[in-house]
Amino acid sequence: MRQMLVSSFVVAVAAAGSASTAPAREPLRVGPVVAATGQQASGYLAVPDGVDPGTQIPVSVFHGPRPGPVLALIAGTHGYEYTSIVALQRLRARLDPTRLSGSVILVHMANPTTFYGRRIYYGADGKNLNRVYPGAADGTISQRIAHAITSEVIARATHVIDMHCGDGNESLRPYSYWQVTGDAAVDAAGKQMALAFGLDHIVIDRERPSDPERTLYTSNTAVRRGKPAITVESGGMGLTDEGSVRAQEAGAFSVMAELGIVDAPSIKVAAPLWIEPAQVVTSPATGVWQPAVEKMQSVATGALIGRVSDPFGNVTHEVRAPFAGEVLYVVATPPVSEGEPLAYVGQLAEGEPKP
Ligand SMILES: [Zn+2]
Repeated sequence: MRQMLVSSFVVAVAAAGSASTAPAREPLRVGPVVAATGQQASGYLAVPDGVDPGTQIPVSVFHGPRPGPVLALIAGTHGYEYTSIVALQRLRARLDPTRLSGSVILVHMANPTTFYGRRIYYGADGKNLNRVYPGAADGTISQRIAHAITSEVIARATHVIDMHCGDGNESLRPYSYWQVTGDAAVDAAGKQMALAFGLDHIVIDRERPSDPERTLYTSNTAVRRGKPAITVESGGMGLTDEGSVRAQEAGAFSVMAELGIVDAPSIKVAAPLWIEPAQVVTSPATGVWQPAVEKMQSVATGALIGRVSDPFGNVTHEVRAPFAGEVLYVVATPPVSEGEPLAYVGQLAEGEPKP
């Protein structure tokens, strides 16, 4: 009984927000990377060898002295998308674990073999990591990475940001995705995260699978487990331009502020441009692609997006806009295979979206 009284007292003190007298929280553990209360730890989450070679995912864990949300920031799912990788290096140098109300998990590079191998879209197994979630412990490398991130990162988090940009071949304008699931609480929290990230173009996404065991996408894996999540896009073409990196860094920090993890103002978008519908225009053929539009350009229904030719230069296909809208990204280098993306066209939604 005495023990219980002591416990109640300690809990009351913690609730009052006193850092100096709060009890030590349980350490936060991501694989072998363990951060004690008020501390930071960095190391590698191992993806063991299986049917093909494994990898080591670099992770940092910041565990504040006060309880609060656990925000996971996942960079480099596509290893040729560099802006988020650089942004997380900056955030790691900037975060002070002694001042956090809650915790932050940084996955610096979710897909190291695609980063060091300079691969776009696909891993060495020919699979897109952002299409194989929640993964499988006995699958190929992309599936095993997804399994490790699902079970060690998403499982520990309360909120997730999946950080992307245009891949090495994609010229992209910044935007984020707000996913609508039908779970009112998750959808409302996700909307606030998207606004807090600070990108003014927000694609409304209602299409992702609802089965928690077949989520395919990183952020969908989180939301189907009841954890608000967004996907963000800033940068592309293999560049690390300052504006694109800064948008990733500032956006992630602003979401920390929105969630109360750091004591700072968030940079909420005051006048978001909601986009719905948005459609990926895919290639009708394998060949040589020449775009006729640039990112951020407005297109009319049926407007020419670009042409696919054979290797000799004979145009085999003209690719046209499915509806009027803005070019969110366009493939800006020549190689293309049948069924791969060529462009992403989005239409401005009318008014404030309802889940
Ligand atoms: Zn990506």
